[in-house]
Amino acid sequence: MTRPVLRVDEAVLRANIAAVTRRVEPAELMMVVKDDGYGLGARWSAEVAADAGVGWIGTYDIPTAVRLREVVGAETRLFAWVTSDDEEIADALLADVDLGVGSLDYLRRVIERAGALGVRARIHLKVDTGLHRNGLAADEWDDGVALALRAQGEGRVVLVGAWSHLAEASDAEDDDAQARFLAAVERARVLGAELPYVHLTASAATWARPELRGTLVRVGAFCYGIRSADGPDLPGIAPAAELVAMVERIEGDEVVVGIGSFDGLPSILAGRVEVGTPAGARPLRRIDPDSARVAAWEGAAVGDEVVLFGRGGSGDVVPTTLAEAIGTVGEEILCRLTAHVRREQV
Ligand SMILES: *Cc1c(COP(=O)(O)O)cnc(C)c1O
Repeated sequence: MTRPVLRVDEAVLRANIAAVTRRVEPAELMMVVKDDGYGLGARWSAEVAADAGVGWIGTYDIPTAVRLREVVGAETRLFAWVTSDDEEIADALLADVDLGVGSLDYLRRVIERAGALGVRARIHLKVDTGLHRNGLAADEWDDGVALALRAQGEGRVVLVGAWSHLAEASDAEDDDAQARFLAAVERARVLGAELPYVHLTASAATWARPELRGTLVRVGAFCYGIRSADGPDLPGIAPAAELVAMVERIEGDEVVVGIGSFDGLPSILAGRVEVGTPAGARPLRRIDPDSARVAAWEGAAVGDEVVLFGRGGSGDVVPTTLAEAIGTVGEEILCRLTAHVRREQV
């Protein structure tokens, strides 16, 4: 049994980061590396990003941010936004991690921890713009800002930002969300907040809708070269990983390759997509627990590489191509891959 390989390509990741950075200027880029860097490796991604000059890394959770502090050095800002327990808050404050704060209770706990440790917490208050997925509601906003400003006066907090998240379901809804967001930002400024960092958008809106960008954008998928399902092609952006499996044997008009559903490949892809082979694209016919069957080609040999997605093989198969065939998103294809898939850097 050969193991499948996920080849992650540093040059491509760097080129994608450069393309996104150029596109969003003068806004700053926060590269999001949640879900272990969309399956490509959070540590590897953060290291490459910091070296490429990315000023912000977003992790979702605090433990990942704390682990990345030694990787990215002291200058890079790390942002963790999920509501956490007091012990994790303390870890974040000691590792100089910026915190996304989306409830009054969490705000009080962050201020309390910062006071106990004698440090200043760098916080970004989250506005609930209608998604109702965490965030201060309109009737809590003034209290939250006032509480943060009071703590700032006492040396326990630095209120560095306001942020929210878009549904990206329709432009009209996103416009409404932005209007609510900007009203909250304006109100905070009236109350005395400076808010140098104002951030609202993830990949799709960041790329396509400059008018929604604030001073900072949070981009994960596009840095990795994962385009949106049914979304436009992205000039300058390419997949930063390719998934390759080896031919293990040839049976009649099929080759058996060493990747299966136990590796995280969704079995319902069978019969719906083509994969890259040395002879071009061939149908993926069946997916078993630890192998898959692909239509054979002239001269197929044991050890030949079959490219499930990536730049090799048939060229235009990217994680999102597979995702579209089964009604999901490209991130999911990458994030489902198990530890049995060997990571290799090129
Ligand atoms: C995942 C996530 C992002 C990045 O989303 P992409 O579409 O991958 O760029 C940004 N912000 C938040 C809050 C997220 O959860």
